[in-house]
Amino acid sequence: MGRHFLQIPGPTNVPDRVLRAIDAPTIDHRGPAFAELGREVLEGMAEVMRTDGPVVIYPSSGTGAWEAALVNTLSPGNRVLAFETGHFATLWRAMAERLGLEVDWVEGDWRHGVDPDKVASVLRSDPSIAAVMVVHNETSTGVTSRVAEVREAIDAAGSDALLLVDTISSLASIDYRHDEWGVDVTVGGSQKGLMLPPGLGFNAVSQKALKASETARLPRSFWDWQAMLAANARGFFPYTPATNLIRGLGEAIAMLHEEGLDNVFARHARHGEATRRAARAWGLEIQCADPREVSNSLTAVVMPEGQSADGLRAHILRRFNLSLGNGLSKLNDRVFRIGHLGDFSDLMLAGTLSGVEMGLRERGVALEGSGVAAALDYLSRTNLRPD
Ligand code: PLP
Repeated sequence: MGRHFLQIPGPTNVPDRVLRAIDAPTIDHRGPAFAELGREVLEGMAEVMRTDGPVVIYPSSGTGAWEAALVNTLSPGNRVLAFETGHFATLWRAMAERLGLEVDWVEGDWRHGVDPDKVASVLRSDPSIAAVMVVHNETSTGVTSRVAEVREAIDAAGSDALLLVDTISSLASIDYRHDEWGVDVTVGGSQKGLMLPPGLGFNAVSQKALKASETARLPRSFWDWQAMLAANARGFFPYTPATNLIRGLGEAIAMLHEEGLDNVFARHARHGEATRRAARAWGLEIQCADPREVSNSLTAVVMPEGQSADGLRAHILRRFNLSLGNGLSKLNDRVFRIGHLGDFSDLMLAGTLSGVEMGLRERGVALEGSGVAAALDYLSRTNLRPD
């Protein structure tokens, strides 16, 4: 009984308002009502991604938007710089290689973000690098890279490389500024901070990236920005858009607007900190090793040696109807991930942490203290909406 707790780090809980918006008759995607909606969501997404430039919306998952970022800006044999921050950075690298790019891969320990100093030193030693690929928020580890510092490093190295940033698990939950941070292509997805079901992928595109797309030679058709932008100017799409998801997107943007993006970020920061305090009180380590890089949209908690994270997750699902994220590839069975992003409140966090704490106890994990008590204490002392 009761509602399922979907506390994986995406897809996230979809608010009823968004569900109601999607639950409407499908409209003519070439008619005037859609043109108005199309223009409205394109403008709204530019605000969310904090850009004055164009945003492209694909009927795709985030992986499609990754591919679009690469094939629109690069040519076969181009060298790109990428960092092993975790599972998703590794997948994006594999895609780049399959597309015929040469990846300069900086190995990592899955506990740190992109090192801006390393960006500068690699770019200085190899001026041929055409793009730097950064996963802003590594969903497999709960580590947030410092994108503004990466930009400064690229500039300090005097490099002309494009900056491509994956914000799939940070968009609309962790502070992010496409224009101000000089990002060339921002990649996003609908199913996390945007509070929608999966099915929409996004690119925010700088003028420099648009210019690069004029000469980029990687093959592309479905992902081509030019056809999209031409149709988008009138509120339309070059092929059938995901009309009902786009209605939901309009509602999600309205909700973000009503709350205010800065308040959205502050809410996520507070829930992230409360979750980290819970882990500390339990006496459990988190996967992120650098306090400057902790993620406000998810926390990956490391299980004590000899204890199975997957066993814990299965137990918690069975007992409390609560889904937690699993450890991916290298972290398989070693960590469980608590998603605290999207449509999420103090009491949802309290319920989630309660389920985790009871599960840990029932599985015989020795805890130093109550993480729930530590989190509630922090939440009460930092109430964002005092009377
Ligand atoms: N990048 C990051 C950071 C992600 O978290 C994900 C999915 O969780 C992806 C890329 C891939 O996106 P999708 O599964 O929507 O294709």
